[in-house]
Amino acid sequence: MNDIIKALNLEDDTIRLVEIITNQNSLTKTVVIEKPLVPHVCPICGFSMYSKGITHRKAKHQILLDGYKLHVEMLSRRWVCQNQDCKHSEQDEYLFIEPRKRITNLIPFLIINELKDINKTCSMVAAHFNVSDTYVHDTFTKFVDMKRLPLPRILSIDEVHLDINEKTKLCCVLMDFETREIVDILPNRWETTLDAYFYSISFQERGNVEYIVSDMYSEYLTFPHKYFSVTHRT
Ligand SMILES: [Zn+2]
Repeated sequence: MNDIIKALNLEDDTIRLVEIITNQNSLTKTVVIEKPLVPHVCPICGFSMYSKGITHRKAKHQILLDGYKLHVEMLSRRWVCQNQDCKHSEQDEYLFIEPRKRITNLIPFLIINELKDINKTCSMVAAHFNVSDTYVHDTFTKFVDMKRLPLPRILSIDEVHLDINEKTKLCCVLMDFETREIVDILPNRWETTLDAYFYSISFQERGNVEYIVSDMYSEYLTFPHKYFSVTHRT
């Protein structure tokens, strides 16, 4: 799971959920995220940089969640180099969100991120995000039902702990190791689930996968020769 968080650039120390604002009248939910205030060093001259205020940037979400339009608001600080001869400036970047404006992952990810703590239940996470248990569950289900991305060259497989029900305890997250995008999420890592999933994908498409990155879970170790013909790295 740490790899996923790193890859998505959503580690606890690089992004922080500020609040979720629900507006019943306009049926919108606004998720506010920010980068924590950490010392910046100028990449050009090495002087320290100072923060020159925060701008609010909005990314509009195309899909509806529970009938609500979802907005993501990113608090973005501008940093300016203290060196008068340099004056280089830059802005907090949200790599996870910006490259291809694909922010569909955000809310489920925040929820999954929270659920990765084995001691937390659905209800606790729901309480933290100020949403219902059903919302946590539905959000996850919708995410699972999202149209998947094509199988990438380097497929990374990880798992997150979701104690939703008997069938959804430890789900299996497939990621494009290079673009950091989530390819798909499977509800569990059972052999029957994995078989049904991978065998439903054409042999030709599976041929695109050159490497698999995973932990040592035995089922995954059968992947390379079972579904693909590739090198395996753990
Ligand atoms: Zn500088």
